[in-house]
Amino acid sequence: MREIDPLLGAVGLRPEVRLSDEEAYQYNGRGVLQVSGAARLRVLPVKEQLDLRIVEEYARPWLPDDRGTIMGSGIVRQLVVDTDDPILAVVAEAQAHYRAMGQWFFHGWNFRRRYSKAELDAAEIFQATFHSVEIAGEDYGTKYDEYRACPMCGCGATQANELVLDRKRLSRRKDFIETLACELVASSRVAEAFQRYEVSGVRFDAMRCAGSDVSSDEWMQLIATSHDARLAPATVAGCRPLEDPNSEESARYRCPLGHRLGLNLISEAFVERSSWDGKDVAYSNEYFGSHQGLLRPRRLIFVSQKVREVIEQEKLRGVTLEVAHLV
Ligand SMILES: [Zn+2]
Repeated sequence: MREIDPLLGAVGLRPEVRLSDEEAYQYNGRGVLQVSGAARLRVLPVKEQLDLRIVEEYARPWLPDDRGTIMGSGIVRQLVVDTDDPILAVVAEAQAHYRAMGQWFFHGWNFRRRYSKAELDAAEIFQATFHSVEIAGEDYGTKYDEYRACPMCGCGATQANELVLDRKRLSRRKDFIETLACELVASSRVAEAFQRYEVSGVRFDAMRCAGSDVSSDEWMQLIATSHDARLAPATVAGCRPLEDPNSEESARYRCPLGHRLGLNLISEAFVERSSWDGKDVAYSNEYFGSHQGLLRPRRLIFVSQKVREVIEQEKLRGVTLEVAHLV
């Protein structure tokens, strides 16, 4: 039996899912840690930490001096804590205090989720994130058809021609690289390995390096062929962690037509099992983020155990997998 901090639950750090008996049985040993009456609350089976960057001037009155590390310039304190650490209740209160004045207690944040081998082996799907680079195809001649985008949220513009990127910005030490516009580039090693292992649900489109007339033989654009993976309600979207995911600010990024869930993904991803088509790669149906300058809203990318195996066997670089849940 494990206590669930009601505040953390309320702000979405630990999504709680009510499970049927059958589902609870399936999840048993994989994270059903609390059973109370008829309701089974699922606590994520994961070592989860939150890495926060806090303005030191604001941190001092709220946090003990020995919590966190003051970074180089002395202006920012880095606080890395487990997400069940009670100090996050203090951080949440401080953030609410400063937000009410139009300021920020913490600016930068990042979740670090670590899994045991048993958890990774038991997972059905993973959410993949990629090494990112601050360029985008639009800088080099890639065009988007905005006509197809949703007038409410701006999501859904389609790429109208080939992806063009600056080769010098694509590190040869990576096999996957994602641009600001969420264009995903894969090395020829990825294309070859995915073909050899017969990875389904994916295609590789030619891309061109700026200044060249012919398609690159080193890099290709990786595209999932389906975007049917619907995110389940347990998926928490919002502007930042430790804030009310239903705040007015968060709601501004939610499309009334359902295309976009929010600015950021806050929790692990939960996918409706009935929407999963069994392919090895799929986009989420829903988007996160916004279209500002070169930035474009993104779909999540989910991959199967087979893709995890390919990544590990072939030592493909530039990708991180986080467990996602079919529910
Ligand atoms: Zn929309």
